[in-house]
Amino acid sequence: MYLVRLIYTSEISDGFGPGDIENILEKAKQNNSKMNVTGLLCFNTTHFLQCLEGSRSAVNATYHRILNDTRHKNIIMLSYCEIYEREFENWSMGYIPYSRLVTPITLKYSGTSEFNPLAMSAGSAHKLMLALRDLLLKS
Ligand code: FAD
Repeated sequence: MYLVRLIYTSEISDGFGPGDIENILEKAKQNNSKMNVTGLLCFNTTHFLQCLEGSRSAVNATYHRILNDTRHKNIIMLSYCEIYEREFENWSMGYIPYSRLVTPITLKYSGTSEFNPLAMSAGSAHKLMLALRDLLLKS
């Protein structure tokens, strides 16, 4: 089974409510554990940046479900590639809340300190997620 990594960004839709992020995370952890998908989800109250890694079929199926979810919109795939190893193997879905998406870490990978994945290259978005993973591991 080939391993792949997919990174996408999206924005909350108008119907997105206060409890939605908890529900999304709970479901993501449940489903991903079953399918051996691992990854990280960053959320700053308006934008999502998510990395999914696992077998090609599992990541593909997960991404297709996510694409159909009406809680977000403007879903843009930033990168998709085959990988030799996982980078987020500790989490069925690790979570980085807004409080962690602040300068100087976002400034290092973007033109401004604002967290806006649409204004980041795929490479910068990936590097930012690795830096956030390292912070998560230390906490
Ligand atoms: P159910 O939970 O039974 O849902 C059935 C259908 O209802 C699905 O189409 C679902 O999208 C929709 N739905 C459920 N609750 C709501 C709601 N409150 N509002 C609108 N529609 C709703 N899922 C994963 O498995 N792994 C992930 O890593 C993952 N990451 C996500 C990241 C983001 C930013 C978002 C918005 C969603 C994410 N999800 C993830 C959830 C995913 O989009 C699906 O909702 C979920 O996978 C469906 O699970 P299920 O097949 O068990 O169906």
